[in-house]
Parts: sequence; structure tokens; C-alpha cells
Amino acid sequence: MSEMTHRSKTRPVRVGNLTIGGSDELFIQSMCTTKTHDVDATVEEILRLEEAGCQIVRVACPDERAAYSIGAIKARINIPLVVDIHFDYKLALIAIEQGADKIRINPGNIGRQEKVEAVVKAAKEKGIPIRIGVNAGSLEKHILKKYGYPTADGMVESALHHIKILEDLDFHDIIVSLKASDVNLAVEAYTKAAAAFDYPLHLGITESGTLFAGSIKSAAGLGTLLSAGIGNTLRVSLSADPVQEIKVARELLKVFGLSSNAATLISCPTCGRIEIDLITIANEVEEYISTIKAPLKVAVLGCAVNGPGEAREADIGIAGARGEGLLFMKGKTVRKVPEETMVDELKMEIDKLAEEYFEK
Ligand code: SF4
Repeated sequence: MSEMTHRSKTRPVRVGNLTIGGSDELFIQSMCTTKTHDVDATVEEILRLEEAGCQIVRVACPDERAAYSIGAIKARINIPLVVDIHFDYKLALIAIEQGADKIRINPGNIGRQEKVEAVVKAAKEKGIPIRIGVNAGSLEKHILKKYGYPTADGMVESALHHIKILEDLDFHDIIVSLKASDVNLAVEAYTKAAAAFDYPLHLGITESGTLFAGSIKSAAGLGTLLSAGIGNTLRVSLSADPVQEIKVARELLKVFGLSSNAATLISCPTCGRIEIDLITIANEVEEYISTIKAPLKVAVLGCAVNGPGEAREADIGIAGARGEGLLFMKGKTVRKVPEETMVDELKMEIDKLAEEYFEK
């Protein structure tokens, strides 16, 4: 995207070794499903998420055991760690002391001013940001009273209320989310928030559901926002293994040309001209390229009639032919390959292209 978007106009905020905001770069986030105090299980899950392409990870921090585990977790992972705290300022202080790269806490819920000041002071000293997480399901009483029910305006007002508390303490390393499980409400809230302030936005459609339905719901909501140039980080929330959240998020970013580190599969819907077992091959190739960190386009086509021509933009691909496959690059057939080895040959060529990409 070349035009200036809200995304690129946001204030840059450091989270660990990443800068969120101020550019068109978007980061993929997920949240651990493990008990945070179970350090081994949490680290194991985070490493799986890293491998899948997760760039920032959040853990829940419901008690002191969790808070005191942050340092041990951080020592064994490679991506920034966000600690999610509700209300309890003591947990926030412990998490910050333990080395959290960002904390998620709503300052308006912390309580007495001294407590808010203590958290802000600690975050400032460590140079870490605070994410304000507005959720349609838990808006402040005074806002609900004013609007009657959760509205986008109410959500933005809630965000501004928390932002003001931090700004009054001269704290500006702020990231904001305005989650709702209702897609239209979330889209409206984020759109209004983007017009109201320039802090980076963390996108999410909360409680979106299972892998299949939740992916569609998230894609509809997050896709609308991404295409409008809104959003600096995102999480796809699914009732599934969080690795699936990363896969869906990566796919979504690829759709909008917002991912520079992932390969894309182009595969035909198949029809009566099909010459190979395309669905099996497409799934195998998709799995294979899921860990390729180069922006390659790989095509798998059922036949050669429209094959290579239909996928001219692909860097590499195979098209089925009777008993064999055609390996093609940039719309031109390179060579014929026997059916039994064509997927292996394709994988080898993909690896070569990925290597060349990183050598450039
Ligand atoms: Fe049909 Fe061939 Fe097109 Fe696939 S590539 S949809 S098999 S014509």
C-alpha cells in the first residue's frame, strides 16, 4: 500500500525488538492457552507459535504465580511477551519487573491514583507500552448508562477515557484494541477509533468461534479493517490450537499484500479437465510452504489446458498432464516431471527459489 493509511500514520511504539505503528507493517499476535505458571508448557506452546509465524505473544496473568513466571518464560522465547492483567496493579508491577515487553491493563480499572501512577512509572522506567483493551462486553457502567447498550461510540469513549488517564501522566506508549464479537460493531468501533486518535490499533474480533466459522468471521471483520488501512497488530481469536490462529492471520495478511514473509498457494477449483489428484497435492503443498519465509507464489493446477497461463503470476507451479506434470515458472513450462515425483520436484524447486530470495 503506497497511500498514507491510518496504519502508517500511527505513533510508533516499541514492543521488545519490534516497532508497532508508524509504518505499513502489521504484526501477528496470539495468546497462550496454557496456565502461565506452567513455564514448560507455556514455552513449548510459544515456540510452536513462533515456528508458525507468530510475532508477538500474550499470556494471561491471573495471579502471582503467573506474574513471577514471566522472567523464566521470557528467557526461553524469542518474540516479545505481552502480559494480560485485569485490575491488579501488583501483578502489573511484578510482570514489568520480570521483563514483560508490554502489559495489557486498563488504567481506569486499576483503582486509586497512586496505584495507576506506580504502574505507569514502572512501565516508563522499563520503556514498555501499555495496551488498553476495550471490550464491548465489559464497558464501564457510566458508558453503558449513557448509551444504553454497547455501541461503537461507547467503546471509543471508553478507550479515550483510559487514554486520558495515561496521557495525564505524560505516558504515550499506548496501543489500543476495541474488541467485540459482533463484527459490525467491532468494525465501526475500530473505524471511529482510527479517526479519533493516532495510537496503534491491535485488531481482533473476540469470541469468534471455532476454526471454520471463526476464521470466516475474523476474515470478514479484520479484512474490512485491513482493506481500509486500519490495524497495526492483529489476533485471530479461535476456539482452537492457537497455531491455527497464526495460520489464519498469515493467510489474511497475504490476501491484502501485507505479509512479506510468507509463501502463497494458488490452486484451481478443479473441473472435468482434471488430470491429477489435485486436492491431495494442493493440501500437501500448502502444508509444505507454510514454513517458507519468502513471499513466493506457488501454483498447483489440475490440468495444462489453462494451467500455466491461468497462474501467470505464480513464481513456480505444476499443472497436471496425462500421467505426468508440467513444471512451470512465471507462466512458462520448464520441464515435464513424472506424476510420482512431481510434488517432490516442486518442493525442491520451491526450496531453491526461497534460498535465492534470501541470497538477494
Ligand atoms: Fe479445470 Fe484445468 Fe482450470 Fe483446474 S486448471 S479448473 S482442472 S481447467
